Amino acid sequence: MLFDDTLSFESGSDLEWNFPDQDNHGCACCSPVFAFLGQRTALKQELTSVDFWKSRNRVDSPIRNAVMVNATVITMDADHSVFDAIAIKDGKVIACGSKDEVVSAADPDAEIIDCRGRVILPGFIEPHMHFLPIASIGRFEDVGPYRFEKTADAIDHLKELAQELSDGQWLMARQFDPSLQEGPDVLTTDLLDRVSTRDPVFVYNASLHFGYCNSVALRLAGIDKNTPDDPVSPYGRWPNGEPNGVLKGGAAMGSVVRFNQGQNDYDLAGAILDICQRANQLGITTFCDQATGSVQGVKEIELYNALAASGSMTARLRYSLSYRLQEKWDSLGIQCGSGSDMARVVGWKIVSDGSNQGFTGLQREPYLHREDAGLAYVPAAELTEMVMDRASRGWALVIHANGDQAIDNTLDAYEAAAAAGLLTNQPCRIEHCSILHDDQIERIAALGVSPSFLIGHVYYWGHAMRERVFGEAKAELLDRTAACEARGIRWTLHSDEPVTQMGPLRCIQNAVTRDLWKEPGKKLAPEEAVSVDAALRAMTIDAAWQCHSDHEVGSLEPGKLADFVVLESDPREVPATEISTIKVLETWLGGRQVYASVNASAA
Ligand SMILES: [Zn+2]
Ligand SMILES: [Zn+2]
Repeated sequence: MLFDDTLSFESGSDLEWNFPDQDNHGCACCSPVFAFLGQRTALKQELTSVDFWKSRNRVDSPIRNAVMVNATVITMDADHSVFDAIAIKDGKVIACGSKDEVVSAADPDAEIIDCRGRVILPGFIEPHMHFLPIASIGRFEDVGPYRFEKTADAIDHLKELAQELSDGQWLMARQFDPSLQEGPDVLTTDLLDRVSTRDPVFVYNASLHFGYCNSVALRLAGIDKNTPDDPVSPYGRWPNGEPNGVLKGGAAMGSVVRFNQGQNDYDLAGAILDICQRANQLGITTFCDQATGSVQGVKEIELYNALAASGSMTARLRYSLSYRLQEKWDSLGIQCGSGSDMARVVGWKIVSDGSNQGFTGLQREPYLHREDAGLAYVPAAELTEMVMDRASRGWALVIHANGDQAIDNTLDAYEAAAAAGLLTNQPCRIEHCSILHDDQIERIAALGVSPSFLIGHVYYWGHAMRERVFGEAKAELLDRTAACEARGIRWTLHSDEPVTQMGPLRCIQNAVTRDLWKEPGKKLAPEEAVSVDAALRAMTIDAAWQCHSDHEVGSLEPGKLADFVVLESDPREVPATEISTIKVLETWLGGRQVYASVNASAA
């Protein structure tokens, strides 16, 4: 069943818990467990008010009428043009070319900005992230692997924070990732009681499928030896039957965090604006939320529209609707493509399987040293039916498929729709598209559909994919960017935040080097490395195309929106291993500067 967005979100601990079909081990990016986050993070009425969002505006910069000269302007146009000047006016690009050409095309009173040799690229486009899910946890303490290599250090850090809490206040943390952090596989009460024996402590796993709490939290929630387990979302237990603080899945987590009354004061609006600003700091000007409705139900669109109309949003939003809310979306009569250049619905998101590192990606044959071959979230026949139905209603499809069997099923569905003449709203996408055989690459090319790769699978999990998940031969089939490039397929890169953090320059570096995290000199399938140019296309014009927005963003050409980033150096010129460290000096959206690093002085 679908989760119910008619619940009162502000009613505190007497909420009814109404969970969708549970999967405790599914892909972090697309799971129904987000629903329970929404039920704890009130969608206050004000969040659907344009005036409210205006009152929260943080970036008060004007739309500029300017000529930027003495730059390296990498336009990402079809001719790969590079110029030394660009003119912008009324939020759009009006000319790119040599200084003389651009100055003569611009207004005589346009301001001249000397870029002093810096590099201008189209604003980066993150084609797959999860906007409200990350906003819903964004203000919890990050205890993940990018901050703490060792779990013991994360616990020490929490202990320090706990000392500053007021009595009874919950300490909430996120991003614990035992696959990337040295230490225990789970956080049990004996570990979290070291943080506090006075106040409740709760930590989310990075996947959001597991939570961990201390004894105080269990006691407040009234969970003990005699509490029955939800069959699909049980409590971890000690050998004597007492709960050990490990909460497996949404229902178990919900049964604890529902007692955190402080969560009603969570500043979701602040967290949403934080994400836009963080995106700008990374050079992102457009991001695409992949599974809208997952946290707050169909009300999410009202929030998006109010935020977009307020002028307070510093990144453009594209979004795909979660198939889990099909009836509700249909009852609202939403059409693919509706919205504005600030926020627009561009796809219909279906999740066909789980995640490979979680052993739930659906495979042609069993995982390494195991007998299971993953899970079909949507069985093959039903997937074809769904795709035919949605395509016939004009939707562009966005289908999550990690395992090779899931990709087979997805291609079968697309071929059936294409044969019936229904696949008209192209491009349709395959998300993650992690394990690709040659025969599948041929089918993708023939269909004209487009993969988006979670390239952090190579960098962060490459070692695990080879050693624990697939073995040597199959791991070589992970994220086959170069093979797709050679076949003329358009593909993109994404972070899938919260699975990995947004970072376009990091994604580009990962695709160019195929390096493995913390294993200097080691690479996964280095023959799949691509050129910097190809990776730049994947994060700009091709991502714009995948998000049905290449008519307005993704390259710097006259008539397009003036969304661009000023970098300290040229990604094509620095050593590949330094691409991710290039400084983003400025980010501009629609001709307004929305971010400037402290030492950026060109503007
Ligand atoms: Zn996914
Ligand atoms: Zn995702």
